[in-house]
Parts: sequence; structure tokens; C-alpha cells
Amino acid sequence: MEKIKVGILGATGTVGQRFVQLLENHPWFQISELAASESSAGNRYEDICNWKLSTPIPENIKKLTVKTCTPDLDCKIVFSGLDAKVAGEIEIDFAKAGYPVISNARNYRMEQDVPLLIPEVNPDHLQLINKQKANRNFSSGFIVTNPNCSTIPLVMALAPLNKKFVVEKVLVTTLQAISGAGYPGLPSLDILDNVIPFIGGEEEKIETETKKITGDFIEGKVSPAQFDLSAQVNRVPVLDGHLMSVSIKLKNDFEIEEVKELLKNFTAIPQERELPSAPKNPIILMDENDRPQPRLDRDAGNGMSIVVGRIRSCPVLDVKFSALGHNTIRGAAGAAILNAELLKVEGYFS
Ligand code: NAP
Repeated sequence: MEKIKVGILGATGTVGQRFVQLLENHPWFQISELAASESSAGNRYEDICNWKLSTPIPENIKKLTVKTCTPDLDCKIVFSGLDAKVAGEIEIDFAKAGYPVISNARNYRMEQDVPLLIPEVNPDHLQLINKQKANRNFSSGFIVTNPNCSTIPLVMALAPLNKKFVVEKVLVTTLQAISGAGYPGLPSLDILDNVIPFIGGEEEKIETETKKITGDFIEGKVSPAQFDLSAQVNRVPVLDGHLMSVSIKLKNDFEIEEVKELLKNFTAIPQERELPSAPKNPIILMDENDRPQPRLDRDAGNGMSIVVGRIRSCPVLDVKFSALGHNTIRGAAGAAILNAELLKVEGYFS
């Protein structure tokens, strides 16, 4: 099978580098173009990219010349790891020019005609694409987004519970890794020996995105879920992996053992369709009372599984647990690649 040529917008950044790493041996997609800002363009990738991953830059990528983010790239689809300050204009230009844009940036996530997708949770929201094309006069182009890097682990744990027991209230407190802020991120003097109880816009993103993703697709639109949700976020001195403490109130009767079984056995379309980036177990349950931990557990399922532990009764709400997700893999580049895989098997690139 001939591979589909893909371009990476923002290829030099934290998320862009993950795209390059994760797509190295992808069975369906092949990187043909790398693009970034004017200051990177014109240089060879290996000369301009401040590569921070533990595997080397793939040989066939090193010598590619970085281009500007203009919609004349030799590829069929683009993945975007662009800075949100510029993603809005660039992504829409690519969609208008006929490229499917699979984006990590926040700019279009909450637009009514743009899917905010987690393939295990809301594949039916892809139906928004036809509406988007009609609304915006797009031909073959469109935009699909993945959620914020904290929203993804939260929603993956909530969604099966919501379906069976109906979630009524959620309290979540996150402990988020430094790589979530991109490179160079926070000054070491701010984050070493410290915790910062603020990440601009993050609490609002978790609160709104979660309700959109778990909302029902009815009569051509997404009706956001109705539960109450309050998020508090913290930046902690961890390199990768966002950990969170979650408490929830459920409408229907439940047993703690049922909650555990439901999460442990959860699978969905990506597993059924055997999408290349789909983890065998989207949710991995740990029994040890001191897990999950970012350093030990963030790479579970090649960074694509969510790790949940410490499931127990909550004396204020009903159930509480810890959840962990790798922020640049399941929370960013890996999520976008899985989205593209679902789009491919559903025929959206034809
Ligand atoms: P980053 O490390 O700062 O990288 C930003 C990228 O955007 C770089 O490739 C940069 O290229 C490019 N860029 C900046 N200004 C540009 C311009 N004027 N024109 C074209 N390209 C430009 O940021 P990141 O952490 O990878 O995040 C990228 C996006 O993903 C953001 O929207 C972020 O919110 C989102 N996201 C990040 C994470 C995470 O864990 N880091 C998780 C989920 C979502 P140059 O190198 O040439 O400047």
C-alpha cells in the first residue's frame, strides 16, 4: 500500500518533534514536508531543530529542508503542532486550500462545526466534518482537533463511567509536566524545588472541552454534557506525564468493583479496527497504592494508554481515583495520529 504523504506544521517544537518520532515507521503515513516559522525555514531540519527526544532524528528526516507554513506543501494531509498564537490563521488557510488539518492547537477546538475528537470516546462527532465543509465552503479540506493534554486522560476515564452510571459532578486537580509548556518552557529557577498553582487558560479548557467531548451528537450538533466540573491545575517539576486526582458523583447505583472492571475492560473503535497507534488497553488499571507515577507509568501502551489507580470511595462525592497520561503522546502528537488513523479508515481522506 502506498503511504499517504503528510506534512508537519510546527515541526521544530515539542509536539512537532513527537510527530516526527512517532511517524518514523508508521504503516500508513510518511512525512514528506516539515514546516515552521520564517526563522527556521530554509534550514535543514537537523541544523535548526533543537531535538530533545531520546531517540535520534530519523535518517530520512534529518536533511529535509524546513519550509514556511504556507499551503503549497507536497502532502495530502497536515498535522499541526503550531503555537496557538499563529495556528488560527495558518490552519484555516490549509483547510481552505484543500488539506485535512489534524490539529493540536486550541484555536478551533470549541467551534461548533469542528470535531474535538478522542477516537475511543466520540467517533460519532466526526459527522461534524460535512457540516464544517458546507458552512465554510471547504472542498476536500477540514479541521479536526484533539483536546488539551489534561482533558484527554480525564475524559478517557470519565466517558465509560458516564455511559453506565451517569456522571453528575467532577472535581479534578492536575499535576502537570513541564513539557506541556513547550520548549524552553519555564525557567529552571521558577520550577525546580517548586509547584506553580496556575497555568493560563488550562482550567477553562478542561472544563469546557470535557463537556463537548462527552456531549451527545443530536440533529447535526453536539449538545454538551450537563454535569458540573471544577478543575484546579498545577505545574510540577516533572518532564513528561500529567497526573490528576479526580473525584466524581454518579447518578446511578454502583459498586467500586464495578467501576474497576468497567475501566479495566474498556475498549472501543480504535481497538476493534486495530488502528496502528491504538493501545491494546486504552485504560490500564493499577492496584498498587502508590501508582500511577509519571516517571514509571507515562510510557504505558507506548504512551497511548491512560493509567488509572487508587480507585476508592469518596466521602464527599462518590468515587475518587488518580489518572495519568503522557502529555506529548496521548495528550498531543499520538492523539492526533490516532485521529488521522480513524479518519482514514472512515474514508475522510478519499
Ligand atoms: P513549541 O515547542 O513552542 O513549538 C511551537 C512550534 O510553532 C514551533 O515549531 C515553532 O517554529 C512554530 N511557530 C511559532 N511561531 C510560528 C510562526 N509565526 N509561523 C509558523 N510556525 C511558528 O510548542 P509545543 O509545546 O510543541 O505546542 C504546540 C501546540 O500544541 C500548541 O498549540 C500547544 O498548545 C499544543 N499542545 C501542546 C502540548 C504539550 O504537551 N506540549 C500538548 C497538547 C497540545 P520555530 O521553531 O520555527 O519557532
